Amino acid sequence: MTRGVCRLAPSPTGAQHLGNARTFLIAYWSARSQDVRLILRIEDIDSPRVKPWATQQAITDLRWLGMDWDGEPIIQTERSSLYDEARQKLLDDNRIYPCTCTRRDIEAAASAPHESPASGWAPDAPVYPGTCSTWQNGEPLPTGKPFCFRYRMNAHPNKFTDLVHGEVTCDPLTDIGDFPITRKAEHAEDCLAAYQLAVVIDDIDAGVTEVVRGDDLILSTFRQLQLYESLGQMPPAYAHVPLVTGTDGRRLAKRHGDTRLSHFRDQGMSPETIVQWAAESSGLVATMSLDGLTMHQMHRQMIEQFDWSKLQRSPTIVESFNETE
Ligand code: GLU
Ligand code: ZN
Repeated sequence: MTRGVCRLAPSPTGAQHLGNARTFLIAYWSARSQDVRLILRIEDIDSPRVKPWATQQAITDLRWLGMDWDGEPIIQTERSSLYDEARQKLLDDNRIYPCTCTRRDIEAAASAPHESPASGWAPDAPVYPGTCSTWQNGEPLPTGKPFCFRYRMNAHPNKFTDLVHGEVTCDPLTDIGDFPITRKAEHAEDCLAAYQLAVVIDDIDAGVTEVVRGDDLILSTFRQLQLYESLGQMPPAYAHVPLVTGTDGRRLAKRHGDTRLSHFRDQGMSPETIVQWAAESSGLVATMSLDGLTMHQMHRQMIEQFDWSKLQRSPTIVESFNETE
């Protein structure tokens, strides 16, 4: 019997780049430093953005960097009946309501400047103005107009202890607001799960005990904590790791040049170079301490010495990856 479950959860919405690689490696080292099962979950529910080639490429990328996992990959698009069940329970409990607002409606109503969030983390979406929230379970669902299901945010839980950032607090009502748990459709049964719901249901179902992900998702954790509470489940431990950004301070993306792992692989770069960079740039080991080691030795050392307190809390800026060598 192992004592927990960790996961690698790539989204095949495009190629995995350096920033993703570093987050996955940190999750991998943490998992393998504990007596836990490590699962691979493919987060492929974001259908318009998912690319058919990207799942296999993500698996190739992870293997190329010397990572392994336990059991077959879990595929979100094969699990919609689980999400539907949870949606129905939340609806029966009046925790969600149908919302017909368009993105434009919400942006227009939410446009009044509001103060910086209590959390100190930049808002990740406009706060929903509450337009459709008077609906109560038992009333008819909207007809002739697509709707999503939106969760009624509570004032609590308003804090959690992160393994990287320590105590994180916010005011869920004013910093975040009611959030969609499904995509839009004209009929309730066609409202496919959105990220917030799918990730919580999958983590509960797999018994996940530790979530390691980028700290751009820190406010989403407050959304997910509410879902755990509504579903009567214990949340996992969270470690939100700093992102890799370009010199403009923005999360690494196309505009910063080609940092796709597949590109480095095609160019003949050794995966050890990337693993060593991830280890050193995150602060987990001293510069050059992995010099000359094989992939296997590097991973062994990272796993043996793994310690969250060494992880740097600020983002890592990458100018040009080839030049950082
Ligand atoms: N699939 C997300 C990503 O690749 C991670 C979501 C999560 O860990 O909850 O960024
Ligand atoms: Zn609405």
